[in-house]
Amino acid sequence: MKTPFITKEKVEEIVKTYPTPFHIYDEKGIRENARALNKAFSWNKGYKEYFAVKATPNPTILKILHEEGCGTDCSSMAELVMSERAGIVGNDIMFSSNDTPAEEFVKCAELGGTINLDDITHVDFVYNALKGAKMADPAASGKMPRKMSCRFNPGGVFTLGKSGEGFQVMDTPGDSKYGLTEEQIIEAYKKLSELGVEELGMHAFLASNTVTNEYYPTLAGILFELAVKIQKEAGVKLSFINLSGGVGIAYKPDQTPNDIAAIGEGVHKKFDEILVPAGMDDVSIYTELGRFMLAPYGHLITKAIHEKHIYKEYIGVDACAANLMRPAMYGAYHHITVLGKEDAPCDHVYDITGSLCENNDKFAIDRELPEIEKGDYLAIHDAGAHGFSMGYNYNGRLWSAELLLRENGDVTEIRRAQTLDDYFATLDGFWDVEV
Ligand SMILES: *Cc1c(COP(=O)(O)O)cnc(C)c1O
Repeated sequence: MKTPFITKEKVEEIVKTYPTPFHIYDEKGIRENARALNKAFSWNKGYKEYFAVKATPNPTILKILHEEGCGTDCSSMAELVMSERAGIVGNDIMFSSNDTPAEEFVKCAELGGTINLDDITHVDFVYNALKGAKMADPAASGKMPRKMSCRFNPGGVFTLGKSGEGFQVMDTPGDSKYGLTEEQIIEAYKKLSELGVEELGMHAFLASNTVTNEYYPTLAGILFELAVKIQKEAGVKLSFINLSGGVGIAYKPDQTPNDIAAIGEGVHKKFDEILVPAGMDDVSIYTELGRFMLAPYGHLITKAIHEKHIYKEYIGVDACAANLMRPAMYGAYHHITVLGKEDAPCDHVYDITGSLCENNDKFAIDRELPEIEKGDYLAIHDAGAHGFSMGYNYNGRLWSAELLLRENGDVTEIRRAQTLDDYFATLDGFWDVEV
């Protein structure tokens, strides 16, 4: 059973000021979840979550998480600048990018962030980019950042925990574009040390949206073993290990959500088994969660505006894949609640569609739902991460507003809806639209 964090009455009040469709985030849920995460890793002195900005790139959200002790994980110029303008700089920035333009490495170094390298050739690339750069702080010019890390790719296939139906998690690092091989990572660390980098770290992201408490502990085990081996054989000392993102959420009502306390304990156990005996008990653990931090605490609220009966039953809503692309792109399941009909029997079967001229623009296919009437409001669940942020303007569909449900029940607009003027703004003077 999935319950929305908002009622029909509240939505009816909100739409008087902010029409549908809109994304709305639950501040209370976000804060409580961040606190639970920090508590789960409180056994580790240097623990820090760097929120993956790409999941929900909104400065108000970044600030809320920063108040809860989180930094930002950026991977583009816009994400770095957003973090900077939200007042999150220095050691609170992790830059885990790939295929990165030189000016973005320079920007990260200027902000004092930690650069996480995606390839062995990027050691020289960053060195050369910084050598030629005039930094705001002349003392920092030409120097490598104090803290840097490398992304590890073990290759092959990553599997985890056989359940009845096969593996719980299976991903193929061997086919993924990211990271360095073991041999390369050792060489990169040696080079970085020679270039004056003081603190070195290791990062890996092997599977996405894992719904099992075993993913992080298993990944931690792999990275801890490698860290010990590298220290023993190559004399490279690591000061942090970044488990990155990938802890998932239960999109479907019959899934058991991850237990973050159990996940933290699982990593703790591996830490005690592997790092502590090797005398590496001062290693800091970092995470770069996106989905886990925000997805459940965002709804896309949309209104039913059409019903159509042909070979199937369709409900047309005023949002479309441009507002939430995961169902169209991945066939992803997003739970839907018809607000005010939470307890009504699900005795109808609908496709819930958006307006794009693409037949994959469906938020749900053959979904059992209560009878939907025109004017009903639908809450599309788990849209708080990789939701608004993946929006696009296909068919000239505009981005919706983002709203924040405050802990005291107030609603604040934290990003206005896009207008036609915004949409035409890059056509340099050809359009002067008044709307
Ligand atoms: C996408 C991404 C994340 C966040 O992933 P989630 O699945 O949202 O937790 C973290 N780090 C990097 C480098 C990423 O690309």
